Amino acid sequence: MAHLTVDIGGRPGLDCRGFCEYCYFRNVKETEALGCRYCPPYQKGCDYCSRSVKEYYTGFRDLRDVADDVLSRLQLVTDDISRVTISGGGDPSCYPRFTDLVELLSSLEAPLHIGYTSGKGFDDPAIADLLIDCGLSEVSFTVFSVRPELRKKYMHDPTPEASLAVLERLCGEIEVYAATVVLPGVNDGPVLEETCEWLEERGAKGLIAMRFANRRDQGLILRNAPVIEGQRVHTIDEFRDIVTGLSSRHGMKISGTPLWDPEIGSPFAIRNEPDLLAKLPRLAKKATVISGLVAAPFLKAILDACGGGVDVVAVEQDIACLITIDDLSAVDPSCLRRLVVLPGRAFVYDREAETVLTRDGKERQVIRGPDSLTADAETSMGMTRNQVLHLEMEAFADLVRTINRYGE
Ligand code: SF4
Repeated sequence: MAHLTVDIGGRPGLDCRGFCEYCYFRNVKETEALGCRYCPPYQKGCDYCSRSVKEYYTGFRDLRDVADDVLSRLQLVTDDISRVTISGGGDPSCYPRFTDLVELLSSLEAPLHIGYTSGKGFDDPAIADLLIDCGLSEVSFTVFSVRPELRKKYMHDPTPEASLAVLERLCGEIEVYAATVVLPGVNDGPVLEETCEWLEERGAKGLIAMRFANRRDQGLILRNAPVIEGQRVHTIDEFRDIVTGLSSRHGMKISGTPLWDPEIGSPFAIRNEPDLLAKLPRLAKKATVISGLVAAPFLKAILDACGGGVDVVAVEQDIACLITIDDLSAVDPSCLRRLVVLPGRAFVYDREAETVLTRDGKERQVIRGPDSLTADAETSMGMTRNQVLHLEMEAFADLVRTINRYGE
């Protein structure tokens, strides 16, 4: 069964009827390529870390180009199409020929998914029926709040009542995963509670709460901090408690990013599973593992349960995947062992990382660990607990084997 992704292009913010107040793309500046796992060994910077990560597109693609693209890819597919997903840098609801696009894709007769929409482009509630008739089966919909005035003010949604009417209709008919960036003092507290109640009553499958970030160490690595001058941010602990509270009061699935999925216990659900931890390979060598502030304590606990001997060093960056060379430059190399393992997806150029982490003159081997050691809320939203545990088992077994192979 093949899965077809239809890229409609578009620029975040610019092809979304203007930037939402909290949009991370709002202040993205031209930056030197960060470097990443895809860069060729002789060159810092590749398409992924210099372009894709900023979601650089020139604008929405013409419907004819999108259709040609779909047709040519269909010719390569021998299997039945099991799912068609609309994705892009801009917001699908703002695509100029959205109705034509959906009607065209419905002719493929496969369930249609919209990977992400803010709904800002929906000005007529009747679009919901068209989407349902055309086979839309799943959508991730940014709600922010069910109070129209807040959507208008913070998302610059010109027709918030219509967007919410579309969301309401979709909730009753198809799988809707709502999402919201949580701005302290704006859409948290009773406003968030009201949003959860509204969604649950109407049949949404779940809500992902996203912690707002406003500083470099909170993940804004594209010289885009602050997004909102003076805006308070929840601490990691505050945010986890908000998610825990919401989840305990509502039947609908509620999870948060960067923390956490209370139903599954992720990230790092495996830490509470002694039987599974006992099945992981034992650590036989020593190494230093570099990680972010959120993951580091979990990682330490799990690696200790595998026999210990591995130091986990947290850099001043909440999310391990968003570690850059600046974070590594702040690490004192004298505290590092001969083998240093970086997060697989860290935005660093391997050679540069090696130079920075051996600047005390001691030889060290710097390698990357698995791409992901756990499932974040966006990933775990559609997974069972067993699937998440399986993913974590595989990833940690891989990490331990890497340390045993190259460690001291
Ligand atoms: S809809 Fe999403 S991508 Fe577009 S401006 Fe708002 S937050 Fe940014």
